[in-house]
Amino acid sequence: MKKIIIASGNKGKLREFNQILQKFAFEVIPQSQYQVPEVAETGLTFVENALIKARNAAQYTGFPAISDDSGIEIDALGGSPGIYSARFAGENATDDDNNKLLVKKLTNIAEEKRTARYHCVIVYMQHANDPMPLICQGSWEGIILLKPRGQNGFGYDPFFYLPTHNCTAAELLPEVKNQLSHRGQALRTLQMRLQQDYLN
Ligand code: IMP
Repeated sequence: MKKIIIASGNKGKLREFNQILQKFAFEVIPQSQYQVPEVAETGLTFVENALIKARNAAQYTGFPAISDDSGIEIDALGGSPGIYSARFAGENATDDDNNKLLVKKLTNIAEEKRTARYHCVIVYMQHANDPMPLICQGSWEGIILLKPRGQNGFGYDPFFYLPTHNCTAAELLPEVKNQLSHRGQALRTLQMRLQQDYLN
C-alpha cells in the first residue's frame, strides 16, 4: 500500500478523506501521526494555501502528501469568507462562532440573495520539491439559511441548504454528502489522476 500523508488536522475533513480514499489502495495517514507542525496559510487563494500545506507535510515526513484547502464563498458578502472561512470570526474561532457571525451578517438579506458555494482544492505532491503537483478542484452550490438544520457534516453544513435535495448538507447521510460535495468532486478527480499518472 502506498502511504500518503493527509496535511490536515480538521476532524471533519479527515473523516471525509478516509471515507472516500479507503476504497482505494492508499494507506492514508493524518499528519498528526508524524507530529507535523502547522504551517501559516499565507496564500491569497485556495490553490496557494493547499500547496503550502502539502509541501509542509511532504517536507516534514518524507512521504507524498495530500492537502485540502476549502471554504465557502457568499455572494451577498462579496465572496467572503472564502479562504478565511475557518477563521471568519477570528483566529481561534469554532464552527459555532463562525456560524453565529454568518447569521448576523445575513439576517437582513432575502433568502434568494443568500446564494453561496463551497470550494475545495486538493493538492497531491510526490515530494516537497515536486515541480508538478496535481491540483484538483470541486464546487458545490447552495443557499445560506438563518436557522441550522441537521447534525451531520461539520463547519457551515447546518446552514448550507441544497434546493436540489430540499435539505441542508448536515441533513445528508455522509455517503450522500461525499457524492455531491466540493471535496468529494475534488477527491474523485484526484483518484482518477493518481491512477492514470502514478499507479500503473
Ligand atoms: P481550511 O482548513 O483552511 O481549508 O478551512 C476550511 C474551512 O472551510 C472549514 O474550517 C469550514 O469552516 C469550511 N468548510 C470547508 N469545507 C466544508 C464542508 O464540507 N462543510 C462545512 N464547512 C466547510
